[in-house]
Amino acid sequence: MLKKAHILKELLREPKRIVITTHRGPDGDAMGASLALYNLLTNIGHNVDVITPNDYASFLHWMPGNDSVIEYNGNELSSDAITNKADIIFMLDFNCISRLDKFADTVNKSDAYKVLMDHHQDPDMNIADLIFSDPDCCSTAQLLYDVIIDMEMSNKINQDIAECIYVGIMTDTGSFKYSSTTSATHNIIAELIKKGARNTRIHDLIYDNYSADRMKLLGYCINDKLLLYPKNNSAIISLTSEELDRFNFKKGDTEGIINYALAVKGIIFAVLIVQREGVVKLSLRSKGNFKVNLIANKFFNGGGHQNAAGGISNLGVEGTIKKVKEIIEIYKEELNN
Ligand code: 5GP
Ligand code: MN
Repeated sequence: MLKKAHILKELLREPKRIVITTHRGPDGDAMGASLALYNLLTNIGHNVDVITPNDYASFLHWMPGNDSVIEYNGNELSSDAITNKADIIFMLDFNCISRLDKFADTVNKSDAYKVLMDHHQDPDMNIADLIFSDPDCCSTAQLLYDVIIDMEMSNKINQDIAECIYVGIMTDTGSFKYSSTTSATHNIIAELIKKGARNTRIHDLIYDNYSADRMKLLGYCINDKLLLYPKNNSAIISLTSEELDRFNFKKGDTEGIINYALAVKGIIFAVLIVQREGVVKLSLRSKGNFKVNLIANKFFNGGGHQNAAGGISNLGVEGTIKKVKEIIEIYKEELNN
Protein backbone atom coordinates (compact mmCIF):
# COMPACT_ATOMS: atom_id res chain seq x y z
CA MET A 1 0.00 0.00 0.00
CA LEU A 2 2.95 2.28 0.67
CA LYS A 3 3.94 2.20 -2.99
CA LYS A 4 0.40 3.04 -4.09
CA ALA A 5 0.26 5.88 -1.58
CA HIS A 6 3.42 7.30 -3.12
CA ILE A 7 1.89 7.08 -6.60
CA LEU A 8 -1.12 8.99 -5.27
CA LYS A 9 1.08 11.56 -3.56
CA GLU A 10 2.89 12.21 -6.85
CA LEU A 11 -0.43 12.58 -8.67
CA LEU A 12 -1.51 15.19 -6.15
CA ARG A 13 1.67 17.25 -6.38
CA GLU A 14 0.17 19.73 -8.89
CA PRO A 15 -3.33 21.27 -8.56
CA LYS A 16 -5.92 19.06 -10.24
CA ARG A 17 -9.64 19.04 -11.00
CA ILE A 18 -10.99 16.27 -8.82
CA VAL A 19 -14.36 14.56 -8.41
CA ILE A 20 -15.08 12.42 -5.35
CA THR A 21 -18.01 10.03 -5.49
CA THR A 22 -19.49 7.29 -3.35
CA HIS A 23 -22.27 4.69 -3.37
CA ARG A 24 -25.98 5.40 -3.63
CA GLY A 25 -27.74 5.94 -0.32
CA PRO A 26 -24.51 7.23 1.21
CA ASP A 27 -24.05 6.27 4.86
CA GLY A 28 -21.78 7.73 7.54
CA ASP A 29 -18.69 6.01 6.17
CA ALA A 30 -19.42 7.04 2.58
CA MET A 31 -19.96 10.69 3.51
CA GLY A 32 -17.30 10.75 6.24
CA ALA A 33 -14.60 9.44 3.92
CA SER A 34 -15.75 11.61 0.99
CA LEU A 35 -15.84 14.82 3.00
CA ALA A 36 -12.56 14.08 4.80
CA LEU A 37 -10.91 13.67 1.41
CA TYR A 38 -12.72 16.76 0.08
CA ASN A 39 -11.38 18.89 2.92
CA LEU A 40 -7.86 17.49 2.61
CA LEU A 41 -7.62 18.00 -1.16
CA THR A 42 -9.23 21.45 -1.06
CA ASN A 43 -6.80 22.56 1.66
CA ILE A 44 -3.80 21.54 -0.43
CA GLY A 45 -4.98 23.52 -3.43
CA HIS A 46 -7.06 21.21 -5.62
CA ASN A 47 -10.38 22.04 -7.21
CA VAL A 48 -12.72 19.43 -5.74
CA ASP A 49 -16.38 18.43 -6.15
CA VAL A 50 -18.20 15.71 -4.24
CA ILE A 51 -21.00 14.12 -6.30
CA THR A 52 -23.32 11.59 -4.62
CA PRO A 53 -25.75 9.46 -6.68
CA ASN A 54 -28.66 10.58 -4.47
CA ASP A 55 -29.51 12.15 -1.12
CA TYR A 56 -28.62 11.00 2.38
CA ALA A 57 -29.73 11.25 6.00
CA SER A 58 -30.03 14.74 7.50
CA PHE A 59 -28.00 13.66 10.56
CA LEU A 60 -24.97 13.70 8.26
CA HIS A 61 -25.56 17.21 6.93
CA TRP A 62 -23.58 19.00 9.67
CA MET A 63 -20.27 17.63 8.42
CA PRO A 64 -17.70 20.15 7.19
CA GLY A 65 -17.88 20.51 3.40
CA ASN A 66 -21.47 19.19 3.20
CA ASP A 67 -22.76 22.41 1.60
CA SER A 68 -20.72 21.82 -1.50
CA VAL A 69 -21.98 18.26 -2.11
CA ILE A 70 -23.87 17.85 -5.40
CA GLU A 71 -26.56 15.18 -5.74
CA TYR A 72 -26.51 13.60 -9.18
CA ASN A 73 -30.28 13.10 -9.10
CA GLY A 74 -31.69 16.39 -10.33
CA ASN A 75 -28.28 17.85 -11.27
CA GLU A 76 -27.38 15.46 -14.07
CA LEU A 77 -26.16 17.98 -16.63
CA SER A 78 -23.93 20.03 -14.32
CA SER A 79 -22.58 16.85 -12.67
CA ASP A 80 -21.76 15.35 -16.07
CA ALA A 81 -20.03 18.58 -17.15
CA ILE A 82 -17.90 18.66 -13.98
CA THR A 83 -17.05 14.96 -14.28
CA ASN A 84 -16.12 15.23 -17.94
CA LYS A 85 -13.53 17.88 -17.06
CA ALA A 86 -12.05 16.02 -14.07
CA ASP A 87 -8.41 14.93 -14.04
CA ILE A 88 -8.96 12.46 -11.19
CA ILE A 89 -12.07 10.67 -9.91
CA PHE A 90 -12.00 9.16 -6.43
CA MET A 91 -14.50 6.37 -5.83
CA LEU A 92 -15.03 5.67 -2.17
CA ASP A 93 -16.73 2.89 -0.21
CA PHE A 94 -18.04 0.68 -3.00
CA ASN A 95 -16.70 -2.23 -5.03
CA CYS A 96 -18.75 -2.23 -8.24
CA ILE A 97 -19.72 0.62 -10.52
CA SER A 98 -23.46 -0.17 -10.47
CA ARG A 99 -23.54 1.25 -6.92
CA LEU A 100 -23.39 4.68 -8.60
CA ASP A 101 -26.80 4.17 -10.27
CA LYS A 102 -27.35 6.62 -13.14
CA PHE A 103 -24.02 8.37 -12.46
CA ALA A 104 -22.15 5.13 -13.32
CA ASP A 105 -22.33 5.75 -17.05
CA THR A 106 -20.65 9.17 -16.84
CA VAL A 107 -17.91 7.89 -14.54
CA ASN A 108 -17.35 4.86 -16.78
CA LYS A 109 -16.95 7.00 -19.89
CA SER A 110 -14.69 9.61 -18.32
CA ASP A 111 -10.96 9.46 -19.17
CA ALA A 112 -10.01 10.80 -15.75
CA TYR A 113 -7.49 8.82 -13.68
CA LYS A 114 -9.60 6.75 -11.30
CA VAL A 115 -8.74 5.89 -7.74
CA LEU A 116 -10.83 3.38 -5.77
CA MET A 117 -10.64 3.24 -1.97
CA ASP A 118 -12.85 0.59 -0.44
CA HIS A 119 -13.20 -2.07 2.23
CA HIS A 120 -15.72 -4.42 0.58
CA GLN A 121 -14.68 -7.87 -0.58
CA ASP A 122 -13.77 -8.60 -4.20
CA PRO A 123 -13.63 -5.15 -5.75
CA ASP A 124 -14.10 -4.99 -9.52
CA MET A 125 -10.48 -4.41 -10.54
CA ASN A 126 -11.53 -2.98 -13.92
CA ILE A 127 -13.18 0.15 -12.59
CA ALA A 128 -10.09 2.07 -11.47
CA ASP A 129 -6.45 2.76 -12.31
CA LEU A 130 -5.28 2.74 -8.71
CA ILE A 131 -7.00 0.55 -6.11
CA PHE A 132 -6.72 0.73 -2.35
CA SER A 133 -8.70 -2.26 -1.13
CA ASP A 134 -8.67 -3.74 2.36
CA PRO A 135 -11.65 -5.96 3.26
CA ASP A 136 -10.25 -6.39 6.78
CA CYS A 137 -10.45 -2.66 7.41
CA CYS A 138 -13.52 -1.60 9.41
CA SER A 139 -14.33 1.37 7.21
CA THR A 140 -13.27 3.29 4.13
CA ALA A 141 -12.63 6.23 6.46
CA GLN A 142 -9.99 4.24 8.34
CA LEU A 143 -8.47 3.11 5.05
CA LEU A 144 -8.30 6.75 3.94
CA TYR A 145 -6.60 7.64 7.22
CA ASP A 146 -3.98 4.93 6.55
CA VAL A 147 -3.40 6.28 3.03
CA ILE A 148 -3.00 9.84 4.37
CA ILE A 149 -0.39 8.58 6.85
CA ASP A 150 1.40 6.63 4.09
CA MET A 151 1.44 9.80 1.98
CA GLU A 152 3.19 11.47 4.95
CA MET A 153 0.39 14.01 5.19
CA SER A 154 -0.67 13.50 8.80
CA ASN A 155 0.15 17.16 9.47
CA LYS A 156 -2.64 18.09 7.03
CA ILE A 157 -5.31 16.43 9.20
CA ASN A 158 -7.14 19.32 10.87
CA GLN A 159 -10.24 19.24 13.07
CA ASP A 160 -12.64 19.13 10.09
CA ILE A 161 -10.87 16.18 8.50
CA ALA A 162 -10.49 14.40 11.85
CA GLU A 163 -14.23 14.75 12.54
CA CYS A 164 -15.23 13.41 9.09
CA ILE A 165 -12.95 10.38 9.50
CA TYR A 166 -14.30 9.87 13.03
CA VAL A 167 -17.86 9.71 11.65
CA GLY A 168 -16.90 7.08 9.08
CA ILE A 169 -15.17 4.84 11.59
CA MET A 170 -17.79 5.30 14.30
CA THR A 171 -20.78 4.52 12.07
CA ASP A 172 -19.25 1.56 10.20
CA THR A 173 -18.09 -0.10 13.44
CA GLY A 174 -21.47 0.37 15.21
CA SER A 175 -19.69 2.73 17.63
CA PHE A 176 -16.55 0.59 17.90
CA LYS A 177 -18.33 -2.67 18.72
CA TYR A 178 -18.23 -4.79 15.53
CA SER A 179 -15.54 -7.42 15.15
CA SER A 180 -13.84 -5.24 12.52
CA THR A 181 -12.83 -2.88 15.36
CA THR A 182 -9.17 -3.46 16.20
CA SER A 183 -6.55 -1.88 18.42
CA ALA A 184 -5.42 0.01 15.30
CA THR A 185 -8.92 1.47 15.07
CA HIS A 186 -8.75 2.69 18.67
CA ASN A 187 -5.25 4.11 18.11
CA ILE A 188 -6.51 6.04 15.09
CA ILE A 189 -9.51 7.32 17.06
CA ALA A 190 -7.09 8.54 19.75
CA GLU A 191 -5.09 10.40 17.09
CA LEU A 192 -8.29 11.93 15.66
CA ILE A 193 -9.29 13.20 19.10
CA LYS A 194 -5.80 14.68 19.47
CA LYS A 195 -6.37 16.44 16.14
CA GLY A 196 -9.51 18.03 17.58
CA ALA A 197 -12.34 15.57 16.84
CA ARG A 198 -15.08 16.29 19.40
CA ASN A 199 -16.21 12.72 20.06
CA THR A 200 -19.19 13.42 22.36
CA ARG A 201 -20.52 16.13 20.06
CA ILE A 202 -20.25 13.79 17.07
CA HIS A 203 -22.13 11.00 18.88
CA ASP A 204 -24.88 13.47 19.78
CA LEU A 205 -25.17 14.83 16.25
CA ILE A 206 -25.38 11.38 14.67
CA TYR A 207 -27.25 9.27 17.21
CA ASP A 208 -29.13 11.51 19.65
CA ASN A 209 -30.82 13.41 16.90
CA TYR A 210 -34.16 11.66 16.42
CA SER A 211 -37.28 13.55 15.38
CA ALA A 212 -40.36 12.57 17.40
CA ASP A 213 -41.73 10.83 14.28
CA ARG A 214 -38.55 8.78 13.86
CA MET A 215 -38.63 7.67 17.49
CA LYS A 216 -42.30 6.66 17.14
CA LEU A 217 -41.49 4.72 13.96
CA LEU A 218 -38.82 2.82 15.90
CA GLY A 219 -41.32 2.08 18.67
CA TYR A 220 -43.86 0.87 16.10
CA CYS A 221 -41.29 -1.44 14.49
CA ILE A 222 -40.36 -3.02 17.80
CA ASN A 223 -43.89 -3.22 19.17
CA ASP A 224 -45.92 -4.14 16.09
CA LYS A 225 -43.60 -5.26 13.33
CA LEU A 226 -40.95 -7.50 14.83
CA LEU A 227 -41.30 -11.08 13.61
CA LEU A 228 -39.21 -13.48 15.67
CA TYR A 229 -38.21 -16.99 14.63
CA PRO A 230 -36.42 -18.08 17.80
CA LYS A 231 -36.01 -21.69 16.64
CA ASN A 232 -33.85 -20.44 13.80
CA ASN A 233 -32.37 -17.47 15.69
CA SER A 234 -33.75 -15.07 13.11
CA ALA A 235 -35.90 -11.94 12.97
CA ILE A 236 -37.65 -9.87 10.31
CA ILE A 237 -38.99 -6.31 10.41
CA SER A 238 -40.87 -4.92 7.42
CA LEU A 239 -42.27 -1.50 6.51
CA THR A 240 -44.55 -0.60 3.60
CA SER A 241 -44.51 2.86 2.07
CA GLU A 242 -47.93 3.52 3.65
CA GLU A 243 -46.46 2.81 7.07
CA LEU A 244 -43.53 5.14 6.35
CA ASP A 245 -45.96 7.87 5.28
CA ARG A 246 -47.83 7.45 8.54
CA PHE A 247 -44.66 8.43 10.42
CA ASN A 248 -43.72 11.23 7.96
CA PHE A 249 -40.67 9.28 6.86
CA LYS A 250 -37.49 11.24 6.14
CA LYS A 251 -34.33 9.79 4.64
CA GLY A 252 -32.32 8.08 7.38
CA ASP A 253 -35.30 7.39 9.65
CA THR A 254 -35.00 3.61 9.27
CA GLU A 255 -31.28 3.54 9.95
CA GLY A 256 -30.41 1.55 13.06
CA ILE A 257 -33.82 -0.15 13.38
CA ILE A 258 -32.36 -3.49 12.30
CA ASN A 259 -29.93 -3.41 15.24
CA TYR A 260 -32.85 -3.75 17.67
CA ALA A 261 -33.89 -7.02 15.99
CA LEU A 262 -30.33 -8.26 16.39
CA ALA A 263 -30.30 -7.12 20.03
CA VAL A 264 -32.92 -9.73 20.96
CA LYS A 265 -31.22 -12.53 22.89
CA GLY A 266 -30.25 -15.41 20.62
CA ILE A 267 -30.92 -13.64 17.30
CA ILE A 268 -27.99 -13.95 14.92
CA PHE A 269 -29.73 -13.12 11.61
CA ALA A 270 -31.98 -10.10 11.13
CA VAL A 271 -33.60 -8.64 8.04
CA LEU A 272 -35.22 -5.24 7.56
CA ILE A 273 -37.49 -4.93 4.53
CA VAL A 274 -38.45 -1.39 3.50
CA GLN A 275 -40.63 -0.33 0.58
CA ARG A 276 -39.82 3.12 -0.69
CA GLU A 277 -40.38 4.90 -3.98
CA GLY A 278 -41.68 1.66 -5.48
CA VAL A 279 -38.57 -0.32 -4.55
CA VAL A 280 -38.23 -2.95 -1.82
CA LYS A 281 -34.83 -2.63 -0.15
CA LEU A 282 -33.40 -5.17 2.27
CA SER A 283 -30.87 -4.67 5.03
CA LEU A 284 -29.35 -7.88 6.34
CA ARG A 285 -27.33 -8.19 9.53
CA SER A 286 -25.78 -11.14 11.34
CA LYS A 287 -23.55 -12.08 14.21
CA GLY A 288 -20.63 -14.48 13.89
CA ASN A 289 -20.00 -16.61 10.82
CA PHE A 290 -23.37 -16.37 9.10
CA LYS A 291 -22.47 -14.55 5.88
CA VAL A 292 -25.25 -12.19 4.92
CA ASN A 293 -23.31 -10.79 1.95
CA LEU A 294 -23.65 -14.21 0.29
CA ILE A 295 -27.41 -14.23 0.97
CA ALA A 296 -27.77 -10.68 -0.37
CA ASN A 297 -25.84 -11.61 -3.47
CA LYS A 298 -27.59 -14.91 -4.14
CA PHE A 299 -31.19 -13.84 -3.55
CA PHE A 300 -31.39 -10.05 -3.70
CA ASN A 301 -28.94 -8.82 -6.32
CA GLY A 302 -26.88 -7.15 -3.60
CA GLY A 303 -23.82 -7.61 -1.47
CA GLY A 304 -21.86 -6.05 1.37
CA HIS A 305 -19.90 -7.46 4.28
CA GLN A 306 -20.11 -10.75 6.18
CA ASN A 307 -22.23 -9.23 8.98
CA ALA A 308 -23.90 -6.30 7.17
CA ALA A 309 -25.26 -6.41 3.65
CA GLY A 310 -28.10 -5.14 1.51
CA GLY A 311 -30.02 -5.78 -1.65
CA ILE A 312 -33.30 -5.25 -3.47
CA SER A 313 -36.37 -7.34 -4.21
CA ASN A 314 -39.10 -7.13 -6.81
CA LEU A 315 -41.52 -9.35 -4.90
CA GLY A 316 -43.31 -6.60 -2.98
CA VAL A 317 -43.23 -6.48 0.83
CA GLU A 318 -45.34 -9.58 1.49
CA GLY A 319 -43.55 -11.60 -1.18
CA THR A 320 -40.18 -10.55 0.21
CA ILE A 321 -41.16 -11.58 3.74
CA LYS A 322 -42.20 -14.97 2.35
CA LYS A 323 -38.87 -15.27 0.52
CA VAL A 324 -36.87 -14.40 3.64
CA LYS A 325 -38.83 -16.99 5.63
CA GLU A 326 -37.91 -19.57 2.97
CA ILE A 327 -34.26 -18.53 3.22
CA ILE A 328 -34.37 -18.94 7.00
CA GLU A 329 -35.67 -22.48 6.45
CA ILE A 330 -33.00 -23.25 3.86
CA TYR A 331 -30.21 -22.08 6.18
CA LYS A 332 -31.67 -23.38 9.45
CA GLU A 333 -28.77 -25.72 10.13
CA GLU A 334 -26.19 -22.95 9.78
CA LEU A 335 -28.39 -20.64 11.85
CA ASN A 336 -28.51 -23.19 14.63
CA ASN A 337 -24.80 -23.78 14.80
P1 5GP B 1 -27.52 -1.06 4.60
O1 5GP B 1 -28.28 -2.22 5.10
O2 5GP B 1 -27.04 -0.19 5.70
O3 5GP B 1 -28.22 -0.34 3.49
O4 5GP B 1 -26.22 -1.65 3.91
C1 5GP B 1 -25.29 -2.39 4.63
C2 5GP B 1 -24.11 -2.70 3.74
O5 5GP B 1 -24.53 -3.54 2.69
C3 5GP B 1 -23.54 -1.47 3.07
O6 5GP B 1 -22.46 -0.97 3.78
C4 5GP B 1 -23.10 -1.99 1.73
O7 5GP B 1 -21.81 -2.51 1.88
C5 5GP B 1 -23.99 -3.15 1.46
N1 5GP B 1 -25.11 -2.92 0.54
C6 5GP B 1 -26.31 -2.36 0.82
N2 5GP B 1 -27.11 -2.34 -0.25
C7 5GP B 1 -26.41 -2.92 -1.24
C8 5GP B 1 -26.71 -3.21 -2.63
O8 5GP B 1 -27.79 -2.93 -3.15
N3 5GP B 1 -25.70 -3.80 -3.35
C9 5GP B 1 -24.50 -4.13 -2.80
N4 5GP B 1 -23.57 -4.70 -3.59
N5 5GP B 1 -24.20 -3.87 -1.52
C10 5GP B 1 -25.13 -3.29 -0.75
MN1 MN C 1 -18.17 1.47 4.53
